[in-house]
Amino acid sequence: MSKRSMLVTSALPYANGPIHLGHMLEHIQSDIFVRFERAIGNEVYYVCADDCHGTPVMIKAQSQGKTPEQLIEEVGISHRADMQGFLINYDNYYRTHSPENQKFSQEIYLKLRERGYIFTKTISQLYDPVKNMFLPDRFVKGTCPRCGAKDQYGDNCEVCSATYNPTDLKDAYSTVSGAKPVLKESEHYFFDLPKFADFLHGYVKTVLPPEMANKLEEWFAQGLKPWDLSRDAPYFGFPIPDAPNKFFYVWLDAPIGYMASFKNFCDKQGIDFDVFWKQDSDKELYHFIGKDILYFHSLFWPATLKGSDHRLPSKIFVHGYVTVNGAKMSKSKGTFIKAATYLKHLQPECLRYYFASKLTAQAVDLDLSLDDFVAKVNSDIVGKVVNLASRSAGFIVKRFDGMLGSTICDEDLACKFTEAAPLITAAYEERNYAEAVRLTMTLADEANRFVDSHAPWVLAKDEANNDLLQAVCTQAINCFKALITFLSPILPQVYAASQEFLNDKLDFNSAAQALLNHQINKFKPLFARIDPKDVAAMVEESKQDLKEAQSAKPQKEATPSSEYVPLAPEITIDDFIKLDLRVAQIIAAEQVPEARKLLRLQLDLGFEQRQVFAGIKSVYKPEELIGRKVIVAANLKPRQMKFGLSQGMVLAAGEGGQDIFLLSVDNKAPLGSKVH
Ligand SMILES: [Zn+2]
Repeated sequence: MSKRSMLVTSALPYANGPIHLGHMLEHIQSDIFVRFERAIGNEVYYVCADDCHGTPVMIKAQSQGKTPEQLIEEVGISHRADMQGFLINYDNYYRTHSPENQKFSQEIYLKLRERGYIFTKTISQLYDPVKNMFLPDRFVKGTCPRCGAKDQYGDNCEVCSATYNPTDLKDAYSTVSGAKPVLKESEHYFFDLPKFADFLHGYVKTVLPPEMANKLEEWFAQGLKPWDLSRDAPYFGFPIPDAPNKFFYVWLDAPIGYMASFKNFCDKQGIDFDVFWKQDSDKELYHFIGKDILYFHSLFWPATLKGSDHRLPSKIFVHGYVTVNGAKMSKSKGTFIKAATYLKHLQPECLRYYFASKLTAQAVDLDLSLDDFVAKVNSDIVGKVVNLASRSAGFIVKRFDGMLGSTICDEDLACKFTEAAPLITAAYEERNYAEAVRLTMTLADEANRFVDSHAPWVLAKDEANNDLLQAVCTQAINCFKALITFLSPILPQVYAASQEFLNDKLDFNSAAQALLNHQINKFKPLFARIDPKDVAAMVEESKQDLKEAQSAKPQKEATPSSEYVPLAPEITIDDFIKLDLRVAQIIAAEQVPEARKLLRLQLDLGFEQRQVFAGIKSVYKPEELIGRKVIVAANLKPRQMKFGLSQGMVLAAGEGGQDIFLLSVDNKAPLGSKVH
């Protein structure tokens, strides 16, 4: 068989937050494929990148008082560390905010434009008048027009599953500023996707599994729509050529990021990039993706490649979502587990093995049942595979100077291994890792029965059994060698340690071939059992993550009841209504360098703007306050301070120092509303 050559990608993680176990499914799935293809002798390049552009990254950076470049740099460092921690062996992990990607994105766009696939159209879109920006659907919330559920996103209702346009929402508000969005017109650039409908309809059947291609039939039946690929400034992305203040929508340049990451790698390694991406390339190109991004990868991406004279993906592999303990990952249950949190408590190969044991080529959801996880990993890897080596190695080392014998004693058993090898190879090739694991574990069971029936610990009692003892242990060690080689794409560290132990380079293509008259090394523990306490600690820490996220500042312990501040003397309603409390929004905040406790706040009360000095510096950073809605005592007599005039008082609970908590109001409350 001649050597194949391929480029493999995983979907690009978005650069606004940490990697969690949901992401890891895909990276583990693709890494196993890559390690397998390399193990059988194919040439594989494997790249990924962070997906950096778009409004969420821009907003997140703003809220942290950083530039988007700073944010993506920090996130990139943590993403790379997580990938490494899980032994994901990327040749290149790059970012979409790169010169290579900008060049490709603009070139592809210009080619599409030259071919007449780009047109412009003026559309009306919701606009945030406070932040001066157009609002993506996900940044508009309001009341569902169908069922009346409050606080639903601009594109669909999580309560009744209705889909709609953000303009259909009642009482809509911007999640960025809380302001009521207004409709504003703007010229947008569209990619004429319908022109590719016939091509795509045939193409998707050749690259997708049938059930995914069938899913797309609905979309073809409804008719493909032109794709809006421009976004107005302010936007973190690449500028569109000849279109001032217009940027490429993040989904244009994200998949081009595969090319850019590979280009970056090729330039460093002296590899011919064009051989892989030219129109008639005979190299294979595989994308691993989640089912949520099927539309982009199977329609927009191939159409932009086709329209710009590039090669097309050979196959698109689609997986489902991860659930934990049978439910959606939940922050409050501690099952929303970050990759870094997992790695603090558990070995990466435990999760690699568990995911592999459940992964098939179908895009079905995969449940990480934590009890089953512990039981399966301990029983399979430790109980069935590693124990096989540890039970036999001692005899070989002590009794035979580490030399494996010249024969084995059970040909039938050896045959079962030889016969299973091509089936295991085929299962990996089809990305049916569950089947590869099942076949391997069936062999492991056979091997353990073989050892149990020959009981080497009994044979060892009588020197007359020496030859048989050596043959039994030699075969057991060879069974172990085959098993760990079959599992090598899944368990790369155990595999590496086993090569050391067996003093041999374990080759996947000859996994079932026996090592005879061969010197092995002393057995060292290859894999530690999972202690259920570590899993519990991981879940507990994941719950803590949530609490920390909920209160970015250090929490003081609850005040004991004896320390409650005594109630003030009774007042009448007439006293109370003298107070005019209003809803206001902090639109600017800054330090007052000469004041120890004060921040200067600019408040928008709807009908007017005001400056207020608030003694909250010990707890709040100016940048985290911007956009926040607060309650202000609005009819308090203005007070001239040495830094300026303070026109009111922002209400907060607590006694000062670290004990200050700004009062909030439901974000939908209009500015200037009176508080009763
Ligand atoms: Zn609804």
